[in-house]
Amino acid sequence: MNTEDHHPLVRIGLIKHCDIIVEMVKKPLPLKKHGVYYIACCPFHDEKTPSFFVMPQTKTYHCFGCGASGNAIDFLMAYEKLSLEEAIEKLKILLVK
Ligand SMILES: [Zn+2]
Repeated sequence: MNTEDHHPLVRIGLIKHCDIIVEMVKKPLPLKKHGVYYIACCPFHDEKTPSFFVMPQTKTYHCFGCGASGNAIDFLMAYEKLSLEEAIEKLKILLVK
């Protein structure tokens, strides 16, 4: 069973827009293009060599150092410490801009 089907963003039809993740992560983090990915030092653990990858194809991020991963909503929730509802509201605003 695919848990993505039950993601609230699927229900409100926003998840297909989550390719905004690159734009979103680029604001607080100095993302560098690295092949088909973007990389930066992970905001969720201390590191000097970037192991935080943003993957535009899957619209997700993944840190190979601490294992943090998810989509645009997960990033907002983890990075800005928002609730799911707050993160969805913020994503809606970002998508309108
Ligand atoms: Zn990390």
